[in-house]
Amino acid sequence: MDNDIFQGYKGDALELLKKYKVRVWGTVVADTTRGIFKGTVLPRAENDDDKHIVVKIVTGYNIGIDTRTVTSMKEVGYNKANYKIPEKAFPFTPGLPHVKLFGTGGTIASRLDYRTGAVIPAFSPGELYGAVPELADICNLDTEKIFAVFSENMGPKQYMALAIAIGKEIEKGIDGIVIGHGTDTLHHTGAALTFMCQNLPVPIVLVGSQRSSDRPSSDAALNLMHAMKAAGQSDIAEVMVCMFGPTSDEYGLLHKGTRVRKMHSSYRSTFRTIGDTPLARITRDDIFPIKKKYNKRRTDKNVKILPYFSDKVTMLYYYPGMAPDTLDALVEKGYKGIIFVGTGLGHVNKELYPAIERAHEKGVHMFMTLQTIWGYVHMFVYDTGRDMMAKGIIPTGNMLPEVAWVKLSWILGQTEDPAEVKKMMLTPINDEITNREPYNGYLVYQGGVPEVEAFIKDVHK
Ligand code: ASP
Repeated sequence: MDNDIFQGYKGDALELLKKYKVRVWGTVVADTTRGIFKGTVLPRAENDDDKHIVVKIVTGYNIGIDTRTVTSMKEVGYNKANYKIPEKAFPFTPGLPHVKLFGTGGTIASRLDYRTGAVIPAFSPGELYGAVPELADICNLDTEKIFAVFSENMGPKQYMALAIAIGKEIEKGIDGIVIGHGTDTLHHTGAALTFMCQNLPVPIVLVGSQRSSDRPSSDAALNLMHAMKAAGQSDIAEVMVCMFGPTSDEYGLLHKGTRVRKMHSSYRSTFRTIGDTPLARITRDDIFPIKKKYNKRRTDKNVKILPYFSDKVTMLYYYPGMAPDTLDALVEKGYKGIIFVGTGLGHVNKELYPAIERAHEKGVHMFMTLQTIWGYVHMFVYDTGRDMMAKGIIPTGNMLPEVAWVKLSWILGQTEDPAEVKKMMLTPINDEITNREPYNGYLVYQGGVPEVEAFIKDVHK
């Protein structure tokens, strides 16, 4: 057997495949000390370890079988996957809007799992047209792969580079921008771009997919179509996240970048607007605004790009019994901003108070957010809240913890003046703090449970 049929495998894993005459793309039945596994052997990436064989099992998930657990293997079939997307020239249609797609990586950018090495960039216009020809009915497309990372590897540098790239595209006169992104931190990037790209004249739509496009249940194509439509044809000039609304493919939702959060590890309908209603519902044919007030599309190019970010801001997720040295350690390490994620209305234990005082004396900027995710920080209700405020912790209303971390980092990248930092934190740029939660803003009322919506409307008549 030549090495070509063991694509990427080396060391123990390669030896094992050779020993049992199992090829990449072969259907294998592996007897292991952890049970019997059946599936398709996938290629390995260059820098993966040599102790695992990656198998796509029938559910569509990829598992790594540890070579040390294998007692025997048998190839029971072979079906070489055709995972190359045919490239077709993306047609130019006069009259359709011009959309730019920036690729950053994540599942939406991979045809098979990243870890297997069988990655198809799927990001040139030709590849995208080959995969989702319907896109050509929506817009004229230009693409650029800026990064190729899973979204846990996005961070300050990438946020700033993206903001600058967005500014340049707007200068050139683009009608809308789509950013393909891993879903795990889509909401952090949504917040970062909201603060870094202000006075937007066109829509900026972040999109990802929970299931890669080689899986029958993939949400990649529909999410892309919805995102391109939102970017090219909607009049909502805001930073938005576009993903499945309900678990079915009935419609997508557009969420504000500052009020959205990934709420389920695997549902396609994982993104929810928190403490507000989504901006709009979107289908392949229509865009239905849910919120009446939003920033409207304009024809000027007067965007403000503010690419600032301090890497000296951290979050402290409180747990009962947290010791004060946790906080002292952060201050000693030079952290200048701390977002507390407190219990209930915004609490931490009394044992932390002296450490909070020490941090305050050192000029650390401290803000309180909530573990409950929904609702408002209320530090006036109990004495303990008042005590903490006296020691320098500032409540942030209903700002989401991740958004507060992004915002404080963005602010401390510009100023360390305490009064200015406080003022900027508490002055909303785009609804990161709102005055009240609408009655239908809570989780269950998004994503198509019409009976519940009708019932609630009735109750609130
Ligand atoms: N871990 C991946 C990421 O966030 C998941 C995804 O793309 O949906 O990059």
